[in-house]
This record gives sequence, C-alpha cells and structure tokens, in this order.
Amino acid sequence: MPTLALPLDHARLPHGLGAAVWRGICGKCPRCDGTRLFARFLKPVERCTTCGQNWTLHGADDFPPYVSILLTGHIMAPIMIALGQHQSLPTWAMMVIVVVLALTLLIGLLQPAKGGIIALQWWMGLNGFAPAPGRAEAEAG
Ligand SMILES: [Zn+2]
Repeated sequence: MPTLALPLDHARLPHGLGAAVWRGICGKCPRCDGTRLFARFLKPVERCTTCGQNWTLHGADDFPPYVSILLTGHIMAPIMIALGQHQSLPTWAMMVIVVVLALTLLIGLLQPAKGGIIALQWWMGLNGFAPAPGRAEAEAG
C-alpha cells in the first residue's frame, strides 16, 4: 500500500527534523501530531486516523533496540560506579537495583526510540517513505 497521505494544513507539519523526531519520541504522529503513532507497544498504526499517513512503510528493524541499549548503558554506567563506592551496600542489593533499573530503562526507552526512528525515516524519505519524504512536503508548502 503506497504512501498517499491525505492533504494536510501546512501549519500542522513539523518545522524541522527535531520537531518530527520529538513527535515520534512522544508517540504522536510525526506528520500531523494529531493521534498516536503506536497501535501496540512496538507496532505502529497502519494509517494515522487524522492525516492518513501510512506508518507501515518504516524499516526501523533492530535500530530502536540499539538506541535503547546505548542510552541505558550511558545512564547505568555512572549509577553502577556510584553504587560500587558504597561499601555498606550488600552485593545482592546492588545486583537487584542494577538489574531492575537496567530492565526498566531498556523497556521504557524502546518505544520512544522506535517512534523517533520512524519519524527520522519519514522525514529523510528512507525505506518505504522514499516517494514522499516529510522534509520535501514541509518545505514545499
Ligand atoms: Zn497524522
């Protein structure tokens, strides 16, 4: 099913890559900011009910987990160093804190990462979005 999104008031289009990605991170439609981007946890809606953009054209693949793991590692490293300096904290308590916090961050960052990557691909015209990149549409109006 090709792109063919509904015509949209130019003011509703994102004004730049950052705005489009932020909408995706927030789980909103990157094109119109009107409705949700995800039907389920990591499954995007087939089409936006407001603007008609087809969101099944993305090719995010394994990139969202990579981003989630990268961010989690950078957040967890100073926390693990700080926990390691507490001599009074038992090892088992440190392990519980680290595992629970790491899993929470990994899972919690997955959907925002995927939303941002879908928005990035749409804006840049990557994968199935090549016939109608978001940037070209925003700049044309
Ligand atoms: Zn939309």
